[in-house]
This record gives sequence, C-alpha cells and structure tokens, in this order.
Amino acid sequence: MPKPKIPGVISGLKVTFKEMLSPNVTVQYPREKEPPPTRARGVIALKEENCTVCMLCARSCPDWCIYIEGHKEKAPPRRPGGKPRTVSALDRFDIDYALCMYCGICVEVCPFDALFWSPEFEYSEPRIADLLHDKERLGEWMETVPDFEPYEAGSEQKVKKVPR
Ligand code: SF4
Ligand code: SF4
Repeated sequence: MPKPKIPGVISGLKVTFKEMLSPNVTVQYPREKEPPPTRARGVIALKEENCTVCMLCARSCPDWCIYIEGHKEKAPPRRPGGKPRTVSALDRFDIDYALCMYCGICVEVCPFDALFWSPEFEYSEPRIADLLHDKERLGEWMETVPDFEPYEAGSEQKVKKVPR
C-alpha cells in the first residue's frame, strides 16, 4: 500500500517543532563563554630566549606574516681559554594576525622550541594594524600556554615541556 503523502509544509513544521524542543547547542558569546580546547590554536606565543634568529619559521610561513630582524653579537667563550663566540640577537619578531591563517607551520618547524600555541583567542582590535603583535606581546602570551598533555598509551614520543 503506498504511503500517504504528507504536505511539505507539515513535514517542515515537524522539523521546526522537533528542533524547538531539543536543547540549544549555540552559546551566546560574549555573554556566555565556553573554554576552548586545551590545544586550540588561539594565538602564537614566543619564548624569546630560545629564538636563535634562524629565520626558519619566517621562510616556512605560507602567508609571509612573520617579520624577523636580528644582528650578530660577540659572546664570551663557553670554557676558559676558548674562542669568543658569535651569537645572533633578536631585534624584531612580529606576527601579523591580520594575515595569519593559523596553519601552525611556524610552530612545527621551529627547531629550538621558541614558538607555542596558546588557546587565547580574545585579541580582536578595532584597528587592523593593531593585530601586528611584536615580540613583547608575543612573549606575554607564554603565560597562557598550557602544559603538553601526555600522549596516548604506547606512544614512544617524548612529551615536550613548555619552558617557563
Ligand atoms: S600559523 Fe601559519 S600563517 Fe600563521 S604565522 Fe605561523 S606559519 Fe604563518
Ligand atoms: S624558527 Fe624558531 S628559532 Fe628560528 S627564528 Fe623562528 S622562532 Fe626563532
């Protein structure tokens, strides 16, 4: 026996009433706030002391939104009687969040653990130019970087530590 045809409008209203009675999944931001997941890509934090000005992150960034400048300095030898060393000092490290697409490549490629993700996301600005964060501002985000969570059982990967 063929199924009776229900007019489209009744089928539509059935869906509407069903959804009216089901619990809301949306959050009324900014009046209500949900904590982001711990490893969320909110903002990139810079541990300035670990940066060797190798430029790898800037060269790998697909959006060209990392600006680095540095200079060479003489440093005392590591051991008494040794030769003085030449080290790189960081003058400028800016990330333009108006261009960044949060791909995470810079954080992945940094060989010296100088870049970390923080889940903080509330840094919108009325002026787009203010989305350029300098090294001082990027350094302040370090306080909001959560510790790494242990890997799944069986992983041989060493859990990284966030430098404090
Ligand atoms: S997250 Fe991606 S786009 Fe943003 S600064 Fe890093 S490499 Fe560039
Ligand atoms: S890759 Fe790391 S160490 Fe090299 S310039 Fe970028 S932040 Fe500094």
